[in-house]
Order: sequence, then C-alpha cells, then structure tokens
Amino acid sequence: IRRKLIAGNWKMNGTMADSADLAGALADRWMKGPRPDCDLLVCPPFPLIVPVVAALAGTEVAVGAQDCHAKPAGAHTGDVAAPLLSDLGCRAVIVGHSERRADHGETDAIVKAKAEAALSAGLIAIVCVGETLEQREAGRTLEVNRSQLRGSLPVGATAANIVIAYEPVWAIGTGRVATPAQAQEVHAVLRTELALLLGEELAAATRILYGGSMKPDNAAELLSLADVDGGLIGGASLKAADFWAIAAAC
Ligand code: 13P
Repeated sequence: IRRKLIAGNWKMNGTMADSADLAGALADRWMKGPRPDCDLLVCPPFPLIVPVVAALAGTEVAVGAQDCHAKPAGAHTGDVAAPLLSDLGCRAVIVGHSERRADHGETDAIVKAKAEAALSAGLIAIVCVGETLEQREAGRTLEVNRSQLRGSLPVGATAANIVIAYEPVWAIGTGRVATPAQAQEVHAVLRTELALLLGEELAAATRILYGGSMKPDNAAELLSLADVDGGLIGGASLKAADFWAIAAAC
C-alpha cells in the first residue's frame, strides 16, 4: 500500500520572515493536530532550507529542495550539490520540474543525472514529467509522459527513493486543473511504464503525485483516484491553511 505524500513546492517565493511564518504555522498545526494521514514535505528556496528545517524540527513535516546539481561538488558557480542538501537536513529534492526544463534547458538526460546524484546523497528524488498544452492538443500526451519518464528515471531507483510527479504544464499556476479522468489516465500509463522499466513490484509501490492547480476544493477528488498517491502543490502550499486542508483530504 502506498502512503500518500503531500509536497509543497514554494518555488521562488518568500523572505526569511515569510518562511518563518509559514513553517511556524505548519509546525503549530502539527503540534496541535489533527495530523493528516499522509507524509508531508515542503521545498523552500535554497537559502531558506536551514531556517525551515529548524522551524520544523520535532515535527514529521520533512524538508526538500527544488533542484540539485548532477555532481557532488566542484567548480559549478551558483549550483547546489545533493550531498550539501542532505547535510542541511533535506530528505528529498525535486528534479526535472517543467519550469527548470523550460527555463534552464534541462533535458531528460540532465534530469536523470540529477536524480542519480540525489539517490547517491541519500535523498528521495521527486522526478517530474508532464506535457504542454500543445502536446496534449496534438494527441501526444501519453507518448510524451512515457518518454520523459523513461529518459529521466535514475539508475538505482527503488519505491523508497523515488517519487514520480505528473504535472501537466498547462495546469501549473493556471487554475486549470486536470480532470479526474485526465489525471487518472496519465497516472495509470506512468505506472504501467514503470512496471515495464523496473518491474511490477516497484511500480505497485512507487508513489505518483499529481501537480497543477491542486487546491483544497479539488484535492479530495484527485486524491481519491486509484493511481494518484499525493500532490505536488505550488501556489496553495504558500498558505498553511490551504496546504493543511489538502493534506487533510488524503
Ligand atoms: P501550482 O499548484 O501553483 O499550479 O503549481 C504546481 C507545481 O508546479 C508544483 O510543482
């Protein structure tokens, strides 16, 4: 059985004070309860990881990063290595988010190398895939997602060290959420592809998150789908009440 995961991707948002408020509010909710019946993770911008780890100490709200470099150290100005993330208290790292694929030209091969770096550092790699609107309208949705998954999966993947996130690009930050039928269709295809690549057992145990305009009012329906094992939440993860409400829908 797959325990659901609700992960917040804070993206490039917030100040020290904002993150202290947000992480403090999450820690409060954790302490007071009721606690949601799922795993929780927040992914702040790099410089806020250390204070957020401190603010969430004593809770089971884990902290992750939004990207890492493929190499463990070296002359890579401006990049952050996976072993450092692990050293700072991160448990996971998002790799291959569509914003990184689009803004930084990250290919499947780069995403795969980053995911392998994450695994080597003992981090969970959250590997993102998803089609653009143009690809969906051209009838290429399933093929694009299958091929991104094939190209981005790290060597050494297990059900414990990878999470897949299906994030249709047209649903990210648009308020236009995938319908339950659209989400379930792609999630099922991703699970079948995982089984082909890495075996039935791994596929059955690996979590596949949905991301793209997930909010408190649409979370319950998406999270009830057979192959949706959680959410990767952008905008709604910046409000403690909304993030908690989504988690409570698990
Ligand atoms: P939104 O929830 O803001 O649509 O963002 C989704 C996302 O990209 C999470 O990684």
